[in-house]
Amino acid sequence: MRGYDWSHLRPSSVLTLKMRMITFFLVGLTVHVVFFLSIFDIYFTSPLVHGMTPQAMPLAPPASRLVLIVADGLRADSLFTLLPNGSSRAPYLRNVIEEKGTWGVSHTRVPTESRPGHVALIAGFYEDVSAVAKGWKENPVEFDSVFNESRHTWCWGSPDILPMFAKGASGDHVYTHTYPAVEEDFASTDASRLDTWVFTQVKSFFQSAKSNSTLKATLLEDRNVYFLHLLGIDTNGHAHRPMSQEYLDNIGLVDAGLAEVVSVVEDFFGYDGRTAYVFTSDHGMTNWGSHGAGHPSETLTPLVVWGAGVHNAHKVTQSQPYNDGYLQDWKLEHLRRVDVNQADIAPLMASLIGVPIPLNSVGVLPLLYLNNSDQFKAESMYTNAIQVLEQFKLPNTYVRNAICGLQFSLQHSDPGQAGTEAPQPGTALTDFLTNRPQVLRIGDNTSSTLVLSTGTPQGCVLSPALFTLFTTRPKEVIVDYRRSRRTKHTPLLIHGEAVEGVSNIKFLGIHITSDLTWSMNTASPGKKGSTKTLLPQEAETCWTLLTNFYRATIKSILCLSVAVWYGSCTAKNRKARVVKTAQGVVGSPLPDLDSIYAGRIQKKMKMIQKKETTLSFLFTPYQLLTESKQAEFIHKARILIQLEKYEDAISLCQTLISHALEGLVYYHTYDRFFLGCSVVLGFVGWTSYVVLILLKTHASLNRHPSLLKQGHSHALGRLCLCVTVLITVFLLIQKSPITYYIYCLLPVPVWYSVLKESGTLTDLIHSVPSLPLWKCFGYFMLVAFGIELLVVSFFHRAMLTVGLTVLSLWPFLSGLFGKAKFRSLSWFLGCLCLAAFPLMPVVGREPNTHLVTCTGLLTLFTSACYLWSSRQRTPLHLSDRQQFVSQMLHVAVCAYVPSLTHSSLQQKQGLPLLNQIISWTTLASSMVVPLLSSTRLFHRLLSIFLSLTATYLLLSTGSEALFPPVLSWLMFVWINIEQEAMLSQGVSSRQELSTIDFSANIDITKIRQLKLDDIRRSYFFVFFIITAFFGTGNIASINSFDPASVYCFLTVFNPFIMGGLMMWKVIIPFIIVMCTFETIQVATQLSSRSLFLIVLVISDLMALHFFFLVQDYGSWLDIGTSISHYVIVMSMTIFLMLLSVVTHIFTSRRLILWGRAKMHFP
Ligand SMILES: [Zn+2]
Ligand SMILES: [Zn+2]
Repeated sequence: MRGYDWSHLRPSSVLTLKMRMITFFLVGLTVHVVFFLSIFDIYFTSPLVHGMTPQAMPLAPPASRLVLIVADGLRADSLFTLLPNGSSRAPYLRNVIEEKGTWGVSHTRVPTESRPGHVALIAGFYEDVSAVAKGWKENPVEFDSVFNESRHTWCWGSPDILPMFAKGASGDHVYTHTYPAVEEDFASTDASRLDTWVFTQVKSFFQSAKSNSTLKATLLEDRNVYFLHLLGIDTNGHAHRPMSQEYLDNIGLVDAGLAEVVSVVEDFFGYDGRTAYVFTSDHGMTNWGSHGAGHPSETLTPLVVWGAGVHNAHKVTQSQPYNDGYLQDWKLEHLRRVDVNQADIAPLMASLIGVPIPLNSVGVLPLLYLNNSDQFKAESMYTNAIQVLEQFKLPNTYVRNAICGLQFSLQHSDPGQAGTEAPQPGTALTDFLTNRPQVLRIGDNTSSTLVLSTGTPQGCVLSPALFTLFTTRPKEVIVDYRRSRRTKHTPLLIHGEAVEGVSNIKFLGIHITSDLTWSMNTASPGKKGSTKTLLPQEAETCWTLLTNFYRATIKSILCLSVAVWYGSCTAKNRKARVVKTAQGVVGSPLPDLDSIYAGRIQKKMKMIQKKETTLSFLFTPYQLLTESKQAEFIHKARILIQLEKYEDAISLCQTLISHALEGLVYYHTYDRFFLGCSVVLGFVGWTSYVVLILLKTHASLNRHPSLLKQGHSHALGRLCLCVTVLITVFLLIQKSPITYYIYCLLPVPVWYSVLKESGTLTDLIHSVPSLPLWKCFGYFMLVAFGIELLVVSFFHRAMLTVGLTVLSLWPFLSGLFGKAKFRSLSWFLGCLCLAAFPLMPVVGREPNTHLVTCTGLLTLFTSACYLWSSRQRTPLHLSDRQQFVSQMLHVAVCAYVPSLTHSSLQQKQGLPLLNQIISWTTLASSMVVPLLSSTRLFHRLLSIFLSLTATYLLLSTGSEALFPPVLSWLMFVWINIEQEAMLSQGVSSRQELSTIDFSANIDITKIRQLKLDDIRRSYFFVFFIITAFFGTGNIASINSFDPASVYCFLTVFNPFIMGGLMMWKVIIPFIIVMCTFETIQVATQLSSRSLFLIVLVISDLMALHFFFLVQDYGSWLDIGTSISHYVIVMSMTIFLMLLSVVTHIFTSRRLILWGRAKMHFP
């Protein structure tokens, strides 16, 4: 990657060397990208399954409509805490809690962002983690929601939230009303206007509905949802923090608006008592105005439910089972508090208005909110259990497949052959139908062959479908699995003629209806039965004859394919009157449909279980919910409900739900171990390969003639081929997705390369006696400890302080102090100063723009000092002087901009345009300006430092602004002290650092072999990179995101631009360290490749460590953090590779503007 002087090498060898380097780089990149992406398959897979049957509750719902109010970003304590004078900030809601509603705390999950929060509320499942890879704003997957299940939904609110539910919903029954996105300006005018807008819109909507008869009729229908999304509180919280008067006043405003809306709604519906109200929030907010992580202030949100079907305020006398002290704080000890998980609200809303629970919901119905009969509760819970179980058992659905197969044959068979027409040649069907030889065999006797030219061959799976096609006119039944059936299907065309679309079809004696209700199927034998059973009644024959007659004529029809349809039959159809009638005629009890169904299903299940074990021999099903246990559970629950033992039924259903949810997780994480093993194997292989390459090319080992003979290498190749084939066959049997092949096959070539390089290992073993063993061992121990320290520092930033303190002693321990006293002391002080930063809190810092200004001045002072002191050794050209002066002026301007912006925002005058222009031009120019400066070592570094500091100042709000200057100071000392270390080891002759030019080519003959000390150098580099990452914030946590730091650039909320700017802020210290490393490579005459390989090994070891620390248990926060650590380290390695190229260009290239060229090269 460096500009080497290749002149003394033969052109061909230069080419191969370069080629090899590029190949290595590309292979390394591929390996890391694959390992990096592997966790998206291992951990970030979508938990959602599709294709379940919606489960509606059989009993009439208590409410006809639902009003859902979500106060975005409202904390539970902000709403419930009383004012000092004992009154409430939200008197209306307080009154509801005390009189007519049920309340509690809704526990949200990480990430506490708006989109996941609303998904949990409305669709009942938690953030689909695969969304991480696909951006936060859009829903990556289709999902079902309460809105989608409703008859109509009207939404008012933010353009950020509403469209995703309108888009997610099928059909056109979700209507959204949003204000323009520019209204959401954090800082300018009063954000509570957003809420006033919503309330005004809702009121005028109901007003207009009074005079609009069609709208009124629609509103009077049942299963309607009205959704009010109130963004004002969230916006005010971000802009002014939740303790501010703006935030608290907004709560009052929402409460008053809510009271008005409720009266408008009640008035419109004539106080019919059929409206249910749910008031909650999507997430809370930290004291410093952010959300996203798992702090209680973010995860505790209020829930107040009242209206139709909801339990009134329940007074309690004894203490409640919550010991978090909130009840006392909120003075609500006397009222029953019912806490829920956020996803539980979805089934609650569904049961209130009687729509099916959203298909992917994992919520458990909070029964204590319901004011209804025990039977209703039990039935609701049963529906909930079945709905959750549906998701669990989906992979084993076989009935649906049979129908799909039929559908396929009906729709895809070429209908031209229907009827008596001769088949058209040339189609697959024709081949299948014509010239079919048919023989009959009884024992050993075989009949002569008869060739069929038309008709259906016997014993073939396709034949029944074809038979139907031949015997009936072609008709089409479309079994529509989509949630909404509003759009019409285009009819199937046969020779330009449309096929008649019918709602039912009789197929092999079963009536299949397009809605799959099976009522027709049960009704038809009933009709026949009523006439047929009467006939033998007149005959007055004995009962055995009657029973036989029943079995032969009625039961055979009635129970035809009972396993297919019985499960999704309605309760009424299940009773099958015909059985009762027949019982009356026969005069003795006959087996009812229930038991016939159970018996048949059991038979079928045994078959399937056997199938499973023979097909995929390695499959271990979830033990708690095998097929038979599921059936047993459901059967038992039904019986308990029939016996009116509702309590027992409810608890049984709850057990079933928890088992099913566990089972869902079990299957979702089923492949994890297997994939993890192969990734680790590949990882270890890659790391060993890098180590071997390093030893081979950059270390002075005693070379030995290769022990690996040609034959061995061939055998190795063949072995690898065998392993590849074995793995492929194995994956084929398992029907694995395509990415699994990559993860499992990648270790093979990696280990092949390792084994091929095993000669280096023997070289190493042979050179062991000549090595200073104890020193080597000591070094490895130190580095191992160092890596551990870095791993721990990901969890506790303070570990970096410990590390820096230890590093500060390095010159004293290594004896450098005696040779360079001033430099050693500077190093010591620099380390200690930098050690202070990891101790500062990441979040909750009060903005202090004076510190930013001071930092700017300090930067100016130090750079002026440096230029002054070095003017003797390296005189500046005029143009360089001009550039430095203009850059320093620029820093001065940038130091002033944040405080100007801050005061302007505080006076609510918005962001001044001039400041915004300065900020964006600074950002854009920051990577270009240094390229204009001289490539002399310290001149270029100073220019980079000034330009990056200017940008960093604009992105700072307080003490963190000091971080780049302190880091740069330490880096400056490091460059100098490394020179000293080189000298002390007698590696090279002294070259004045300030005379080194970045753009000069390195003489390749002077590049030296690796020393043990270079491991230390690389480790320092990794250490400083991590320090640059975690010095001012914890980028592993979303919490360190403080929107205030980007206010110089924009104030309208835009997560992507804001995130990008924050990322840039994180990268700036990173670039400083990177440039230093580049300088050290130049100064110590080391090939960048070898140093970089050591860095690669160190960071790969860390990545491996984090791969093991990734956990799939514990809280979501723990899981998320552990994964993000892995992501950081992995992406760091990839990033370092790319950035080292960028930094090389950044330091060694020079842009020459027109006309100035002459002045630079005198
Ligand atoms: Zn939100
Ligand atoms: Zn927010």
